[in-house]
Amino acid sequence: MKTVLITGASRGIGRATALEFAKNGWQVAVNYNKSETAAKELCDEIAGLGGCAKVYQADVSDCDAVCRMINQVAAEFGDIDVLVNNAGIALTQGLFTDFADSDARRIFDTNVFGMMNCTRAIVPHFVNKKSGKIINLSSVWGIAGGSCEVIYSASKAAVIGFTKALAKELAPSGICVNCVAPGFIDTDMNAHLSKADIEAFCEDVPLGRIGKAQEVAESICFLASEDASYITGQVLSVDGGLV
Ligand code: NAP
Repeated sequence: MKTVLITGASRGIGRATALEFAKNGWQVAVNYNKSETAAKELCDEIAGLGGCAKVYQADVSDCDAVCRMINQVAAEFGDIDVLVNNAGIALTQGLFTDFADSDARRIFDTNVFGMMNCTRAIVPHFVNKKSGKIINLSSVWGIAGGSCEVIYSASKAAVIGFTKALAKELAPSGICVNCVAPGFIDTDMNAHLSKADIEAFCEDVPLGRIGKAQEVAESICFLASEDASYITGQVLSVDGGLV
């Protein structure tokens, strides 16, 4: 049975992705930072479906905690086949010039250094066995740029640059690195928006609606599957045609 480690799997896209992998017969390592109850409930739900999942607490921006987590997952599941770097934060929207330096650093610490910490810790395992897949979560804003989301957009553009460069570096070792760029998805990240805001935004989406976490999860599972064995260094947009 294959094993996937999903960061930030307690809620939203990560949670939906954990369920989708479990339904496809994978063992799931569910990373969370603060939402312990939600993470444990997810594992119970997966167990109820006949699957196998365990929770692992770690703040992805904490390099030592990430190394401990990866070693623990590898020891308890025997191996790790796929890493999904999903954990991410957006914080508040606002003008770039009003953004506190501390908030900008928090965004980069989670969205960029968190991804790098997990990747750096897992690559030696993957290189040893000459296989493995890494799937990173970028964003439509990392491709197109979003007004009043400048720092978040920059962090998600960094995810794309990282993905493309690392894919070339790791290809000779048989490791594939790709990213998914969701558009406007119905999760807690957008829970602060009013119904009117959501309707206005959906007018710009060619498919005319907000996306579901499940729809992103299915794309992530595709990239992890054998059907994507010749795909690396790519950005798969799941955005209803937005960019
Ligand atoms: P969400 O509902 O806000 O959930 C965020 C998840 O990330 C939670 O499980 C949270 O865990 C985890 N997390 C945050 N900081 C963490 C840290 N330091 N260490 C470990 N886990 C951490 O977000 P989402 O909408 O599912 O987004 C998932 C990913 O997709 C993010 O990378 C996001 O940028 C990207 N994305 C989302 C959208 C969208 O419209 N929703 C669009 C484009 C891209 P705890 O609750 O346990 O702390």
